[in-house]
Amino acid sequence: MAVPISQAWTVATYVLGQKLRGRKRYPLVLMLEPLFRCNLACEGCGKIQFPDHILKKRVSAEKALAAAEECGAPIVSIAGGEPLIHPEIEQIVDGLIKQGRYIYLCTNALLLERALKKFTPHKQLTFSVHMDGLKEEHDRSVSRDGTFDIALKAIKKAVEMGFRVTTNTTLFNNADPERVHEFFDLMMEAGVESMMTSPGYPYEKAPDQEIFLERDRTKVLFKKILGGAKKEWRFNHSPNFLAFLKGDIDYDCTPWGNPTYNVFGWQKPCYLLGDGYTKTFKQMMETTEWSRYGQHGTDERCKDCMVHCGYEASAVDDSFSLGGAIRMWKANKNMHKPVTFTEDEEKLYALLRADAMKRAESCGASSCCSSSKDVAGSEKLLENIAPNRVTRQVQREENVPASGTDR
Ligand code: SF4
Ligand code: SF4
Repeated sequence: MAVPISQAWTVATYVLGQKLRGRKRYPLVLMLEPLFRCNLACEGCGKIQFPDHILKKRVSAEKALAAAEECGAPIVSIAGGEPLIHPEIEQIVDGLIKQGRYIYLCTNALLLERALKKFTPHKQLTFSVHMDGLKEEHDRSVSRDGTFDIALKAIKKAVEMGFRVTTNTTLFNNADPERVHEFFDLMMEAGVESMMTSPGYPYEKAPDQEIFLERDRTKVLFKKILGGAKKEWRFNHSPNFLAFLKGDIDYDCTPWGNPTYNVFGWQKPCYLLGDGYTKTFKQMMETTEWSRYGQHGTDERCKDCMVHCGYEASAVDDSFSLGGAIRMWKANKNMHKPVTFTEDEEKLYALLRADAMKRAESCGASSCCSSSKDVAGSEKLLENIAPNRVTRQVQREENVPASGTDR
């Protein structure tokens, strides 16, 4: 099992409770960003681009704990920035544990080994280590040599000390499935409890705009990466979310499932977009124009987004319906079976790799960030594979719950 039974039970009873109360929109994971300052400068990061006076701001432990109470989500993901830089990180962790929350403390692990002595292993505390692949890919992704080795050493130390450790991997359109498989093997050997993986989101502010995935390319790439998964690989995702990434199930986004609290307050509508802030969680839930967002919404920034902070909650919510439970059973059953690709999918994947190689050659590196600019051929194929993609700006009814549909 990818998470302890007590955590699965806490989440299941919480979701059932929300459903019994008839709540259509409820938070599942609080994304708590107590600071934006980081000790790295990753190429795909949209958080560290703020001006210095914002990077200096911190959410106090008192405010962080009050936000968690106000939101009520059973899981808190402490992100950032680098949370281990926060001067009150221990108080935040201790307070959240006392509140009964399950914590994923996201870290790039540069400071983790030294910081471990400040914490005590606990079933409610997991270190979620940012690892973007094997050494070559990870060090390039975080723009600093040696980071992979430091993180791997810290992971092993944390595991040895009895901490729960997971990994969090963002994959861009230059990802090589074989290398990603090697990476999964290595993380399992290192003793991590489970792995999270998600396509990168095209941040407007991120320095490298050419590495981000386009929706149909994302599906074919993830089908290559996750199709026929080894039994040894454990993922910290619901099977329905993994099926969604592979294009087997379609969901719309439930941004309210992962609400974000940071130095500005409650962020509308999600972790990735900042369309305004409110003082209270209630105001954020009540004043956000939810129908604008998600793949069927009208906001162009959502059209290629398939990230877990938008769609994992959709998959979890779906699992509590009869149809969703059947989809989950099927996703589980098919998880390790070899997958077949249509001719168009193979062609699209070949284009994806060719773009990656071309970009790598022009950069003088073997698997550098890929170009998505050479799209004439891809566009034609995409029209065949997803003819409606150009008309996806359909109006969406307000209050439409996330619903899963088999493809
Ligand atoms: S480690 Fe995380 S917060 Fe820091 S620069 Fe990289 S992606 Fe951004
Ligand atoms: S699809 Fe959802 S998670 Fe992605 S940017 Fe839009 S609202 Fe945010």
